[in-house]
Amino acid sequence: MLDYVGLEADLSAEEKLIRDTAREFVAEEVAPDIADHYEAGTFPTDIISEMGELGFYAPNLEGYGSPNVSERAYGLLMQELEACDSGLRSMASVQGALVMYPIHAFGSEAQKEEWLPALGQGEAVGCFGLTEPEHGSNPSGMETRAERDSAEGTSADPSEVVASEDADGFVLNGEKTWITNSPIADVAVVWAKLTSDDGSPVRGFLVETDRDGVETPKIEDKLSMRASVTGGIVLDDVRVPEENILPDVTGMKGPLSCLTQARYGIAWGAVGAARDCFETAREYQTDREQFGGPIARFQIQQEKFAEMATQITLAQLLAYRLADLKERGDLRPQQVSMAKRNNVRMARDQARVAREMLGGNGITTDYSPMRHLSNLETVYTYEGTHDIHSLILGEDLTGLSAFS
Ligand SMILES: Cc1cc2nc3c(=O)[nH]c(=O)nc-3n(C[C@H](O)[C@H](O)[C@H](O)COP(=O)(O)OP(=O)(O)OC[C@H]3O[C@@H](n4cnc5c(N)ncnc54)[C@H](O)[C@@H]3O)c2cc1C
Repeated sequence: MLDYVGLEADLSAEEKLIRDTAREFVAEEVAPDIADHYEAGTFPTDIISEMGELGFYAPNLEGYGSPNVSERAYGLLMQELEACDSGLRSMASVQGALVMYPIHAFGSEAQKEEWLPALGQGEAVGCFGLTEPEHGSNPSGMETRAERDSAEGTSADPSEVVASEDADGFVLNGEKTWITNSPIADVAVVWAKLTSDDGSPVRGFLVETDRDGVETPKIEDKLSMRASVTGGIVLDDVRVPEENILPDVTGMKGPLSCLTQARYGIAWGAVGAARDCFETAREYQTDREQFGGPIARFQIQQEKFAEMATQITLAQLLAYRLADLKERGDLRPQQVSMAKRNNVRMARDQARVAREMLGGNGITTDYSPMRHLSNLETVYTYEGTHDIHSLILGEDLTGLSAFS
């Protein structure tokens, strides 16, 4: 596998073990069928609990069954999963960084005990509801509302409220869209404006998907990220008890801090997708002969290998540096934006080059580059589009915000 500047030498035994476990799991359990799942538009749900048993969901967290592995080990894990398919890494990212992380960071003791072991083991599936039909890049404009559901009643017929077993909780209304795993989730972390409180602050709620008034329709006909389930979350007078609010965070820093965790994993994962494209192109071009010998001998092709290997190596170095900063608590969200922005663009560009290096065969599902390329269109867009990360960096570099 491409490791041009010998990063392997700096890995601990535990980091190598985690990476190799993920690599082996992917090769044996997922890679053989991933193209079929991609064509069918399905996620291999039978591996969800196996991934949990192997410790693939938020292993960098501490306690509640999580082993607290190094940030580099976590990154390497994301890299190996996305070398197979971005849908696989998305599963682990959402479950770990977007669902387990906020419960771990902002949840009550009871929420942690109820959900973290089950999510970590893959016995329960979570999803993260931030994006709305009318509010994607600017989630702070969200329209999803929560109101306090007291016995006096604020949002519904008072007699109904008194009868509700969840009186003294909240009533949620609104719609989320483009939510990874919502159709197969047991619980959703839903971000909503709590209109009963001064200033209508954004708050996080744990919403079990079998509650009355919750629907999670699947989004069909995606041409990207096909081996991943995506859907909506429709909330129609959904009552949740008081204990379902995430008590320890108020405002947009709640969802944004989750996104920083997930973007960190994406910065690593994208390198894995690019590496798989490189390896596929190298194997193909050293085997395939035209004009009496392997195509890889031609200078035009070698220039592509040189550029691809260089770009992957630079992105790898950025990811490794991020891990060190994160480990010592110095990582800034803007640095994560730089890595997400750069590494995903790099992967998308190199997937396209790898696809062309495979000629006609490159457009089939027999080879990974076109699948990666198509997936990376989503990765380029979600968790903050490439443009939005440009603006985040622009503000950090100039002190001038383009958002307002
Ligand atoms: C497969 C998939 C899975 C997803 N999973 C989740 C999930 O689990 N949870 C979740 O909450 N969301 C999820 N998302 C949603 C994703 O985060 C949003 O699609 C993304 O934030 C962009 O929002 P949008 O699609 O509404 O695009 P828009 O915000 O409408 O943007 C459209 C275009 O305009 C550009 N643009 C917008 N504002 C500006 C500006 N100020 N300056 C310059 N250009 C701008 C954007 O860069 C983009 O190119 C997922 C999306 C996909 C496709």
